[in-house]
Order: sequence, then C-alpha cells, then structure tokens
Amino acid sequence: MWVALNAWLNHEQVLVEQAAGNDAMNLTIAFEAHIQSVVRYADALVQDIREDVVEDPNDFEEVVREELQVYGNMIAQVAVINAAGRLVYSSLGPVTGNVDLSGREHFQVHLENPSQDKLFISKPVLGRVSGIWSIQFTRPIVDEGKFVGVFVISIPINFFTDFYRKINVGPSGLIALVGKDRIPRAVASKSGLNTTLDGIVLSQDEPYFDNTNPAEGLYRGASAFDRVDSLVAYRRLEHTGLIVLVQLSPTDYLSSFNERRQFLLFSATVTSALLFAFAIFLYFVTRQHLGNTAALKQSYSALRQLVSVDLLTGARSRGDFLEALETEFSRAERHGTELSLIWLDLDHFKRVNDTYGHPVGDTVLSQVTTLCNGVLRAHDVFGRLGGEEFGVILPHTNGMDALDVAEKLRKIVEKAVIPTDRGPLQVSISCGVSSMLPVGDSPSQLIVRADDALYKAKHAGRNRVCAAYAGETMRSSNKPVDSKT
Ligand code: GH3
Ligand code: MG
Ligand code: MG
Repeated sequence: MWVALNAWLNHEQVLVEQAAGNDAMNLTIAFEAHIQSVVRYADALVQDIREDVVEDPNDFEEVVREELQVYGNMIAQVAVINAAGRLVYSSLGPVTGNVDLSGREHFQVHLENPSQDKLFISKPVLGRVSGIWSIQFTRPIVDEGKFVGVFVISIPINFFTDFYRKINVGPSGLIALVGKDRIPRAVASKSGLNTTLDGIVLSQDEPYFDNTNPAEGLYRGASAFDRVDSLVAYRRLEHTGLIVLVQLSPTDYLSSFNERRQFLLFSATVTSALLFAFAIFLYFVTRQHLGNTAALKQSYSALRQLVSVDLLTGARSRGDFLEALETEFSRAERHGTELSLIWLDLDHFKRVNDTYGHPVGDTVLSQVTTLCNGVLRAHDVFGRLGGEEFGVILPHTNGMDALDVAEKLRKIVEKAVIPTDRGPLQVSISCGVSSMLPVGDSPSQLIVRADDALYKAKHAGRNRVCAAYAGETMRSSNKPVDSKT
C-alpha cells in the first residue's frame, strides 16, 4: 500500500510541476507581447512628437497636450533635453532654474552616438521634476546632421507593476522586467518586493543573463530577488535589451497537492494502524486458540491415559490391550518374529467375593496384577480383559517360552499370601497359551486359541497352564505344566 501510494504521489507531483512550468512559460509569452506593444507604442510616440520639436517648435506643445490626452495614463512626462544636457521642456510645467541632466545615461548614450537614431530604454530613474520612478524611452534629436538634444518619454513603473499585479502568480510568485544590464525595471508581486528597485543589481550568474543559453527557458532554482527556491520562466527580448521573468513558488503551486498528500498519508497511516491492530488481535486470538489446542491435547492425552489404564488394578484396559495386540501382531508379521499370548483367569473367584466380600475381591485382583507384573519383562503387555480375567502379550516369545512364563505366573500367584482386611488369602489362576502361526494367522484367532486353551485348563481342574496348538485348540495339553488340586 505504501509503495503504491508513494509512486502515485510522486507521479502526481511531477504532473503538478509540469502544469506549473507550462503556466509560467505561457505567462512570459503574454508578458513579452505586452512589453513589445508598450515599447512599440512608446517608440512610435517618441518618433512622432520628436519631429515636431525640430520641424514645428510652435506647435510642439499643442501636439504634446493632444498626445497626453490619449496616452495620459501611460506617460508620466514628455521632456526635451538640449545639446548641453539642460532640461528645456517638460510636459509637467514650465522649466524653472537650471536642471542639468547631462549625467543621465540616456543623454550620454545619445551624445556619444548622435548618428545612431536608436531607441534607448533607461533604468528606472527617479524623475527630478516628476518625483516618480519611471523608465525613460529616449531618442536623439538631430537637426541637419547635428546633435541638438534628447527627446524623452517617461513611463512610470506603476504602469507595468499595476498591470502585472492583476495577474495571479500566487502569494509568493512575481513577474519582473529586467534589463540585460542586470538592473530590474519593474517587479510586480503580492509579497511587496517592489517597494523600491533603487540600487538593485541582480547576480550575473542568473541563467537568463548568459547569452549562450536559449532566448527562452524554464528552470528550478533560487530566485534572483530573494534567493527562495522558485520555478523561473524567462524570455529575452533581444531588440530592447529587456528580459521578462515569471517566478512561481513551489509552496504556492504545490499547496493543494501537499494538502491532498497529507490527507492521503494520514489516511494511509490510519489504515496501517488499523491493520496493525487487527494483526495484533489476530495474533492474540491465534495464540489463545493454540493455547487452547495445547490444553485440549493435554486433556486428551490425560483422558487417553485414563481409558488406557484399568483404574482398579493399574493393568492396561481391555481396549488398550487389544490395540497393543494388533500393533505387536503387525510388527511380528513385518519382522518375522515370534509372538505369544496368555489368557489367564482367577479360579473360583466368585467364592472369594461371596466369602469375604467384594472389597476383598478387589484387593486380590490388584495384588495378582502386582505379582504378575513382577514376573514379566518391560516390553510384555499385561491387561485386564474384564472381571477376573487377564491377558499377557509376549513379543519375541515362542510357544515353549510362553508356557514357561505362564507357569511362572501361575506359581507366583499360587505361592503368594495376599494380605486383606479379612486376613491373608491364597488364590490360584488358570492359563491358556497361544502362539502366532508363521502364516494365515490373525490377532482374533490368536485370542480364540488362547481362550480355548484357558477353557481346557479350567476343565482339567484349574490352577494349571494349557497350550493351544494349531488345529488342535480343543485338544488337551499333552502335558499340563503343573497342577494343584
Ligand atoms: P472359575 O474358576 O470357573 O473362573 O470360577 P469363578 O468363580 O472365578 O468364575 P465366575 O465367572 O463364576 O465368577 C467370576 C466372579 O468375579 C464374579 C464376579 O462377582 C467377580 N468379579 C468380577 N469383577 C469383579 C471385580 O471387579 N471385583 C470383584 N471383587 N469381583 C469381581
Ligand atoms: Mg474365574
Ligand atoms: Mg472368569
């Protein structure tokens, strides 16, 4: 989101800057056209009225009055300077005293080049008679090849500045008319830079003063007037020695874009914060969920432990035992190892309950389990199948060895004196033993054979061990391993 927003904002800024550049260039074109027409008018007037100074001096003042009625707002003063540099005529009123203008640049220029009838546009000067800042448009007066003076028309700076102030260049922008001599003629801006132009000379480093640069251009750089970063468009008016400048300030033309950008950045920040908060929320919810899952797993394994163990004796529960038998059977089949099963049952246990009570019967069941576990190996599985009936899985054990194990169990139970609340007791067990066949066997058939063998042992008088042999499950063990009657 941030990458896309950034790319979009950069693109948008480029577009805004391009539009501002176009605006600035278009303004310089309009500005140049205005200046050209003012210069043309002013020069036409200069040439027109000047003729009368020489040809019809009597009518001259009348002509001036007429022209001033038409161009009065544009012309501050019409003046004539004689060959000695003295003011001899001013449209502002009778010339009194000795007004010496021989030091003025325009006078010097025309005095030195009397044969060159060329329009000269002065720097802004403070009129000694008019008292206002103006730019003077002058041409030499030549009579029969002889320099007899200078004809002057003064155009007030306000004529330029008032006009350009109406053009909107933003609060910090400006429009300026500058001479190639680096002296500004007129500057219009809203920031009031044009209070006085007296003594201002612009830096010669400005690109528009460099004649090797094109006659028109646009660049971004420090303003020549206040050194503030600006977008500057310029056009050089080659014939007049003037340059028109339009400066736009990035703070102005980027202001609405910047507002929009701030709004978008703020929105993006809020969105990011919300997404972040949501991510944190998800994190905690997930963590809690995982915690719950872990707790559930723990409960599940505790429950599983519970159901896999017989609560009275601590032996494996029936379900767990049968599951273990399936597992061991598959493993033995896979590895080609041996597996045997013992089914054992307490003899005449009903009598124990009947004689001593159920709690004593429980004690006996629990003690028999402890006795059997004492004989068995760690990887043998001892389970309670129900009531007073138990099973033993013997991995890696063949039939003969299983008979030995069963016999050990029978003997240890037979010999044991079990302490109970009703005094010491002795009990016996009967065992049926079956072993896994190399082929075509199954856990359930193994059980059936062991159970049949147990039945045989009971039938043969109890307290004994019987083996089941394949296909002979009902046949009595050829040798009851032991018996106690
Ligand atoms: P047999 O030698 O033929 O096995 O005779 P038996 O009396 O042991 O067998 P029977 O099936 O007739 O009786 C089993 C008795 O086991 C019946 C029942 O009361 C008792 N019994 C079963 N489960 C429990 C138990 O959890 N606790 C106690 N105290 N007795 C139980
Ligand atoms: Mg029994
Ligand atoms: Mg029984």
